[in-house]
Amino acid sequence: MLGIIGQWSFYGIFRCPFVVPYLSCQSCPVVTCHGRILSMFWGFWLLLPLSAVLFGRAFCGWACPGGLVSQLMSLAAPFRLQRRSLVSRLAPYGKYLGLATALYVYFLLGQPRTNVPIRVGDFFGAVALTFEHAFPLWLWRTGVVLGLLALGLVLGNAWCRFACPTGSLLDIFRKLSIFRVYKTSACNDCNKCLRLCPMGTRPEEPNCTNCGDCLDACAVGAIGIGRKPQA
Ligand code: SF4
Ligand code: SF4
Ligand code: SF4
Repeated sequence: MLGIIGQWSFYGIFRCPFVVPYLSCQSCPVVTCHGRILSMFWGFWLLLPLSAVLFGRAFCGWACPGGLVSQLMSLAAPFRLQRRSLVSRLAPYGKYLGLATALYVYFLLGQPRTNVPIRVGDFFGAVALTFEHAFPLWLWRTGVVLGLLALGLVLGNAWCRFACPTGSLLDIFRKLSIFRVYKTSACNDCNKCLRLCPMGTRPEEPNCTNCGDCLDACAVGAIGIGRKPQA
């Protein structure tokens, strides 16, 4: 089961040469694709869930190429939603809608062949052909994903914070992880860490990726890393 979750998550991020999230190799007509070959290495797929058990959402903070793209796109974003407000607290839960949709399409619809892009060798030609002949479901999904990624140009890191299905799955593991960036009872809610956090959050709160960027930010020394000491 852990292997299936890991495989599903990696598919969503960078396996497909078209960078189309949550595409099924099993129903793809391209037989020589490197992504299809990689899907045979089940041990590889275990890395993600195991890292989640040990380090929570650290994959997002340290290894995900999708997260890197999202952060680079957000460098000049005019809005960051890095203040405590009802909207900033509720918005991260929006990504569970993305998780439910991705799980439904992948496991219950079985990724029908109509979801698969066309590949004819030349990358740009294949992309053009795919859009030309795509089924509405494929166009919808691609449009939503690209739109949310592009939203990052305006609202910092929007995809990772509010939409990514894999991020929401890892966020579920976050509370159970053994090692993490944590905050202690010395915290006085000054929110200095939140203002510099690329995910607009605080340690141990939704969307914290254990990136460690806030480790030196706390004036009262309330932030630590490793196993959280028992209170
Ligand atoms: S939220 Fe998704 S895209 Fe962003 S870093 Fe995590 S897994 Fe990667
Ligand atoms: S900087 Fe320290 S005191 Fe301020 S909110 Fe963060 S953990 Fe709490
Ligand atoms: S709260 Fe700190 S460790 Fe967590 S994502 Fe933000 S900067 Fe990184």
